[in-house]
Amino acid sequence: MKALNRKERFKKLFPDEPQYRLEQVNQALFSDAKNWDEVSALPSSLRLGLEKEIPWLSVEAKQLVWNSRQDTCKALLTANDGLIFETVLMKNKREQWTICVSSQVGCAMACTFCATGTMGLKRSLISDEIVDQYRFWKQYLREHPELPQRISNVVFMGMGEPTANYESVKEALHTWLKYTDLGLTRITVSTVGILPVLKKILEDPEWPSVRIAISLHSANQKRREEIVPTTVPHFLEKLKTWSHDYAKKLGNRRHHITYEYTLLNEVNDSEELAHELAKYIRGTASSKINVIPYNPVSGKSFHRSQQERTDRFKEVLRGYDLTVTQRKTMGDDIAAACGQLVVINS
Ligand code: SAH
Repeated sequence: MKALNRKERFKKLFPDEPQYRLEQVNQALFSDAKNWDEVSALPSSLRLGLEKEIPWLSVEAKQLVWNSRQDTCKALLTANDGLIFETVLMKNKREQWTICVSSQVGCAMACTFCATGTMGLKRSLISDEIVDQYRFWKQYLREHPELPQRISNVVFMGMGEPTANYESVKEALHTWLKYTDLGLTRITVSTVGILPVLKKILEDPEWPSVRIAISLHSANQKRREEIVPTTVPHFLEKLKTWSHDYAKKLGNRRHHITYEYTLLNEVNDSEELAHELAKYIRGTASSKINVIPYNPVSGKSFHRSQQERTDRFKEVLRGYDLTVTQRKTMGDDIAAACGQLVVINS
């Protein structure tokens, strides 16, 4: 059975409290308070009740590891039921922080090159557990005043497939948008591309129009089927159609679609495939390509694309006048980089 989130538990435990209390509670959760006792806006009897019944944070840090450059920190978090998942803090270009959050413990998508896929899916996170990855890092930063304090961006590029946990992800997005300074374009949901859910995103009036990144990894249907097993027949054609629907609804410079492309040596990094990708992307609505260097995963036979192959691949794309960025590899020495997140849950 799915665990109740804070809002549901609050209503159940304190049915006689006026409606505005819940709003005060939410505000408190995003204030500088470190525990219920410090929330002076609430009556002390309620604070005591909350202290007993609802943990201030729904997750507990089990382990924190900084990389050698001290620009990336990975945290292992323990949920109420003992399951462990990961979240990552990364310094960005603006010397602020981007946090990489998980939406599930493990993942069912089984992308062939990804570490998380090898765990299978343990369970989806409830919205509090997603929201609290942000709160966890905020609290951590407050305890370390020597570090920059602002979390300016959130990316759903930790464990799990966010579109397979739609409702909880949506609720977490609404919570951050309401109670933090994160705006729509500062949050990116990265997805393997589950077409019915992508469609739903366009139809659901309550889905906040945060940025979307699609994990493409190949614009060749057959090759994509080989490396991303959830690829359905005619995926690429259907995705292209969807991209135009997206552009019609939300498209503007602030809402481009990013296509992620992890370069795997001699698998999807040939010149021919670069041309195929470029032609494909030119046929989609306005969009960007984000090339990701492969981060090694133990037990997998993939390799990072050689430098010359990577350079040639990007050169071909740029020849088509496409916007290509390359993701900086961060935290690979602490297994906190993309696709390296895996936890052995006993
Ligand atoms: N389930 C989401 C989030 C995955 S993590 C999705 O599929 O988009 C974010 C990105 O890292 C995805 O594009 C994913 O395919 C990529 N990735 C996975 N394993 C990787 C690895 N070992 N090296 C580099 N990128 C990887």
